[in-house]
Amino acid sequence: MSSALEIVAVPAFADNYLWLVHDEDSGETAVIDPGDPAPVLAEADRRGWRITTILNTHWHGDHTGGNLAIKQVTGATIIGPAGENGRVPGLDKAIGEGDRIRIGSHEAEVWEVPGHTVGHIAYIFSDDAVAFVGDTMFAMGCGRLFEGSAEQMHVSLHRLAELPPETRLYCAHEYTLANAHFAAHAFPESKEISDRLRHIEQERAANRPTVPTTVAAERATNPFLLARTVEQFADLRRAKDDYRSA
Ligand SMILES: [Zn+2]
Repeated sequence: MSSALEIVAVPAFADNYLWLVHDEDSGETAVIDPGDPAPVLAEADRRGWRITTILNTHWHGDHTGGNLAIKQVTGATIIGPAGENGRVPGLDKAIGEGDRIRIGSHEAEVWEVPGHTVGHIAYIFSDDAVAFVGDTMFAMGCGRLFEGSAEQMHVSLHRLAELPPETRLYCAHEYTLANAHFAAHAFPESKEISDRLRHIEQERAANRPTVPTTVAAERATNPFLLARTVEQFADLRRAKDDYRSA
């Protein structure tokens, strides 16, 4: 029986979560999307973990800005999306759909989930029921369409939603409260959404993180999964871009 993955949130900037992932048996530690090197290195140090791998989901600076500094200190290998090669600082290993990476004996399959960016990937640790989804799916939300189409994002979200319901989704931002307000505005008749909004309000008032979420929770309350067609999804995404909660 191998040790479970230990997953620790490192808050950074205004609302990013950088994820440290440690396997006790092998001593390997990965960091997912280290936008800022200092808090990641400090937290790893505090725990006595040496970072061996940097995993990027997409090229945006708040996900890759710490790549080079962390590599310089730890010698970690930088792994990221082949579709964004040239835009990910220091990329050592470009990966894409169906590739596999390991942290100790824990294996992840790489999925291409375009929409937020065209080359965006997610890391799916099926045996651990864990997925690192970057800026594709958020708790009760999804990433903005900076590069990809509504259709691409719609497909990507539904693909993630087909994971087993207990799967924990590690998103890269604490956007849940704003997302929950928009969800309640878009689906005022949903009791699941209004209940979750109340719960999220309590969690955030107590300054507790609302990530990870689960596939089950998102299937029930993510407005972008409740959209029945690509057109409805695209309308919702536009409405969210313009939405400011009262
Ligand atoms: Zn991004």
